[in-house]
Amino acid sequence: MKKSYGFGSICAREIKENRTTAPHNLPIYATSSFELESLQESIDIFSKKEEGHLYGRFGNPTIDTVAKKIGYMETYGLEMEARALLFSSGMAAISTLMISLLQSGDKVLTAGNIYGGTTELLLKVLQPLGIEIETVKMNDLAKIEHALYNDPAIKMIYFETPANPTLACVDMEAISQLAKTYEKWVAVDNTFCTPYLQQPLKFGVDFVVHSTTKYLNGHGNSIAGALVGKDIDLMEGRIFQTLKLLGTNCNSWDAWLTHNGMKTLELRMQRHSSNALQVARFLKTHEAVAQVNYTGLESHPDHELAKKQMRMHGGMLSFELKGGLAAGEEFINRLQFCTIAPTLGDVDTLVMHPATMSHINVPREVRYANDITDGLIRLSIGIENVDDILVDLIQALN
Ligand SMILES: *Cc1c(COP(=O)(O)O)cnc(C)c1O
Repeated sequence: MKKSYGFGSICAREIKENRTTAPHNLPIYATSSFELESLQESIDIFSKKEEGHLYGRFGNPTIDTVAKKIGYMETYGLEMEARALLFSSGMAAISTLMISLLQSGDKVLTAGNIYGGTTELLLKVLQPLGIEIETVKMNDLAKIEHALYNDPAIKMIYFETPANPTLACVDMEAISQLAKTYEKWVAVDNTFCTPYLQQPLKFGVDFVVHSTTKYLNGHGNSIAGALVGKDIDLMEGRIFQTLKLLGTNCNSWDAWLTHNGMKTLELRMQRHSSNALQVARFLKTHEAVAQVNYTGLESHPDHELAKKQMRMHGGMLSFELKGGLAAGEEFINRLQFCTIAPTLGDVDTLVMHPATMSHINVPREVRYANDITDGLIRLSIGIENVDDILVDLIQALN
């Protein structure tokens, strides 16, 4: 900066002299564009001859660093390359994936128990564009094979494991093998597990999506999403192009918050898992509780499959009160330590009553078809001292 510049110029221009000190932490890049040294540099970056940043919607060092880290986590210990992209939300990651790969006339084979927003995306946004949806029970391999064999329009199999609200698991290896035979894509929403607990790519899955809003960030202070894929050409080509053109990119601030949160991911997931196991074991012995759904309990129907796919069992569990709707409402209103909130994966314990919260607009028979009963309570067990969680649950149940 020259001191001889006019007042307005001094206000408007950047001072670049002190930009060389190396920051210990990832800086937040609050810039919509990047300066170019020369026209040649611009040509090289635009024509992809050289790597570099041009415009914030295409990425910046803050956003790219976070994406890269999630890519490393999802391929940790695997002899495989993958690319990761960061999005403005989990829904942005899911919609960008689907819009990139599916066209009018194509079909997605999915389950009735996936995240409600994803079902709505398929029914209210993609179906009017000509993309059809077919639902099956993801543990019925014969039915899946029958569908793949008979219906060439199916292009993608999409599911979650473990899934809401019963924590039912899906055999990723078996489905990926079937998909390979019939040349279909498999995409898995890994939000509940994070790559510390489960790496879908290891079992042959093609795409992994995340709402990083939940466990990856873990602190409940940002909305963002991620997509990891092993087909580098698709990730860098069609999918990145859709991200750029729809503008589903993440912003620096939410990327940075996610980055900060992810630093403690391993420690958090270990604590979420050990706390949840203790809570599940306690609930199982309580007389007011009819059933506990937690993959860490040997009584869970998918306990063995979960052990094959997951390192630990995570912080999500649900349970059924004997007293139905009235008991569910009373229980939730009596809680003092646990927080009532329609999210999951935060460091503090969160409770949700699907029948009166997330699924209040869903007809009762549709809820019941997906095992969301009146007395069902969902817990996202936090990393607090487990005794405080247990004391609260005990007083609310008695
Ligand atoms: C929250 C959530 C989403 C959607 O993510 P957003 O970040 O809210 O857009 C998708 N899948 C699962 C399993 C989720 O819990």
